[in-house]
Amino acid sequence: MAFDMLDPYPEIRAGVLKLCERFDMDYWARCEREQRLATEFFEAMRDAGWLSVTMPESLGGAGLPFGAVATMMQAVAESGGGWTATTAVHGYLFGPHAIVVHGTPEQHERMLKPLVEGRERPCFAVTEANTGLDTTRVKTRAVRNGDVYLVSGEKVWITGAAIADRMMILARTTPIEECVRPMDGLSLFYTRIDRRRVEIRPIPKHGVETVASCVLIIDELPVPVEDRIGEEGKGFRYLLDSINPERIMVAAEAVGMGRAALQRAAGYAAQRRVFDRPIGQNQSVQHPLARNWMELEAANLMVFKAAALYERGMPCGAEANAAKFLAAEAAHSACRQAMLTHGGFGYAREYHVERLMRESMLPMIAPLAQNLALSFVAERVLGLPKSY
Ligand SMILES: Cc1cc2nc3c(=O)[nH]c(=O)nc-3n(C[C@H](O)[C@H](O)[C@H](O)COP(=O)(O)OP(=O)(O)OC[C@H]3O[C@@H](n4cnc5c(N)ncnc54)[C@H](O)[C@@H]3O)c2cc1C
Repeated sequence: MAFDMLDPYPEIRAGVLKLCERFDMDYWARCEREQRLATEFFEAMRDAGWLSVTMPESLGGAGLPFGAVATMMQAVAESGGGWTATTAVHGYLFGPHAIVVHGTPEQHERMLKPLVEGRERPCFAVTEANTGLDTTRVKTRAVRNGDVYLVSGEKVWITGAAIADRMMILARTTPIEECVRPMDGLSLFYTRIDRRRVEIRPIPKHGVETVASCVLIIDELPVPVEDRIGEEGKGFRYLLDSINPERIMVAAEAVGMGRAALQRAAGYAAQRRVFDRPIGQNQSVQHPLARNWMELEAANLMVFKAAALYERGMPCGAEANAAKFLAAEAAHSACRQAMLTHGGFGYAREYHVERLMRESMLPMIAPLAQNLALSFVAERVLGLPKSY
C-alpha cells in the first residue's frame, strides 16, 4: 500500500468509518452514563481484525504500516466516538510495541497471541504520582530473587488496569545512585496482574468514564524472569521506541475528535435560526469555525508528515511532538467552539459536544503535557539549553 500524505489509506478510513456507523452519539453517551466499557464496539473492532493491525503477520496480525494505524484511529475518533471510543482499543496498538520489537519468539507467542486474538486485555503502567513527567525517577522497584523479581511500588492513572489481565510495567532494577545515567537501571516487564498483590483503585475523572484510570498499589508482586522484556536495565530505552508512534497516534486521534466537534457545530450553525436567520450566517459564528478547520487540517499535515517519517525509519521526534502539540490545541479549540456555537444547548448532554469538550483536555495532558513537547522542540530543534 503506498503512503500518500494527501490521502493516507483511503480504504482504511472508509472501512473504519463504516464500522463506526453502527455506534452513534447516543451509544457513546449511554456507555458514559452507565460508566461501562463499550463492549459492543470493542467486539466489533476485534472481530473485524482492527485490534491487531500493528502486530506482525506471523502472529496473525495485519502488520500494517504506521500511517494506516494513525488513519484508523483518526477515523474512530472522527466518527463521533472521540476519546471514549479510542480508549476502548488504543492500548492494543502501541502498549505492546516493545514486545514486538524486543521480545523473544517465545514471548511473542505467549504474550502477543492472546492480544491478537482479543483474549487478554493489556494496560500500560509507567506514571507515578511523585515523579510525574520525570519518568526516569520512577520509584517502583523490582528486586531479583532467584527466578522471579519482587515488584513493589505505586502507579497512578493506569487506564484499563481494572479490567486488564496483564500490565506492561516500568520498574527500577538498579538504584539510580549506582547508574551512570538516570535512564539506566530501569527494566520493562509484561506480566499478569495478580490481584492478591496489586490493589486497584479507580480515580473518579473528568471524562472517558467508560474505562477507569487507576491507582495501583503493588506489594511484592512476583514477576517471573521470563516476563522481562529485553535486557535488565534497558527498559527505558525500549519505551523510547514507542514514544514517537504513540504521540503521532494521539495527535491523529485528536484531529479526528476535533473534526467530529466541528462537523456538529457547523451542522447546528446551519440549521439553528435566531433573529430570523441561521446563526451560521453571522461572521462571528462562522469565522471561528473556519479557523478551527484551518487549524485542524494544518495539524493533520504535521501528523501525517511525522507518520511518513516514522514509516521510513527517519528521525521524527520534532514532528511527532509538534503534531501532538498542534493537534491537541486544534482539537481543544474546535471542541470549545462547538460548545459555544450550540449556546445553552452546548451545555446539555443531549447535544454531545460537551463530552467531546471534556475529552479534548486529554491530549493536552497525556501521554505528555504540552510544555514538554515545547521543551523538546526548543532543545532539539532550536539548540536551546535543556530546561528540565
Ligand atoms: C485520563 C488519563 C489517563 C492516563 N493513562 C495513563 C496510562 O494508561 N498509563 C500511564 O503510565 N500514564 C497514564 N496517564 C498519565 C499521563 O501520562 C500523565 O498524567 C502525564 O504524562 C503528565 O504527568 P503528570 O500528571 O505527573 O504531570 P506533572 O509531571 O506533575 O506535570 C504537571 C504540570 O507541570 C508541567 N511541568 C512539569 N515539569 C515541567 C517542566 N520541567 N517544564 C515545564 N512544565 C513542566 C507539566 O507541563 C504539567 O502541566 C494518564 C493520565 C490521564 C489524565
